Amino acid sequence: MAGRNWFNELHTSSSGILLEISKPIAYRKSSYQEIWIFDNPVFGKVLVLDGCVMTTEKDEFFYHEMLAHPALTTHPKPERVLIIGGGDGGTLREVLRYPEVGKATLVELDRDVIDLAKRHLPSLSISFSDPRAEVVIGDGAKFVKTAKSSYDVVLVDSTDPVGPAEILFSEGFYRDIKALIGRDGILALQCESPFLHMDFIKSQKKILSSIFGRVNFYNAVVPTYPGSLWSFAFASDSVDPLELKRKPPEGLRYYDEHIHRAAFTLPPFMRDEIER
Ligand code: SAM
Repeated sequence: MAGRNWFNELHTSSSGILLEISKPIAYRKSSYQEIWIFDNPVFGKVLVLDGCVMTTEKDEFFYHEMLAHPALTTHPKPERVLIIGGGDGGTLREVLRYPEVGKATLVELDRDVIDLAKRHLPSLSISFSDPRAEVVIGDGAKFVKTAKSSYDVVLVDSTDPVGPAEILFSEGFYRDIKALIGRDGILALQCESPFLHMDFIKSQKKILSSIFGRVNFYNAVVPTYPGSLWSFAFASDSVDPLELKRKPPEGLRYYDEHIHRAAFTLPPFMRDEIER
């Protein structure tokens, strides 16, 4: 290891991830967070916010496909999509694969994340130039509180529930979203690690279930995330998460209709906790 540079992120006080920095690419201290991008021989370019790996060129599709496609294949008519967070552009790219989507609004707190993603992460930020994409710089919680439009699908692609993202996991935020999506609407959100954060996931289930008629969880592997297994919540009043209304777009590398069904089948350790 001598003579080589390393990035490490603690996932708990005694475990974490270690990535070689083969080439530093960018660093910026924005008004909200420290933003790093560096090259790694295995994962390609790595985006780090306040010391936490957000996404990497090589494994980003596991997460972005799984955050976007379960909602977009099951909503009856996903014409208007709202993305909260997601400043790297990966989720926006997945949403705009659907010709049914007429407009995708992305609300990102930190314009510097978008700027650096456009400069250094072209495979993720490619869709910011799509005419159907609308970018709003601001706090997602404030946006949904005052939004005048309605949406068919809302995807919350936030950092972990600390700091500016903490409010994106609150009852008030979810209630504001519920008011925007109507009866057929779907809310899907990243919901942390079933291996390390089960109490948090259970607390989210309790909050979401007090607001939405149907709340399901599904999982995906994200190699660079804490615990590798990652959870997502799927909340709606009327949509059955296992009733696909359309085939997924061509060219996906993690998600397909089989993975969709498998993802909603929770392993016993998680199912017993969630359904208790
Ligand atoms: N796609 C990656 C992932 O898997 O987690 C990263 C998601 S994206 C980089 C997370 C974004 O959420 C960050 O750019 C951060 O600035 C943004 N964010 C945090 N709190 C926010 C808030 N209250 N409103 C809008 N965006 C917020």
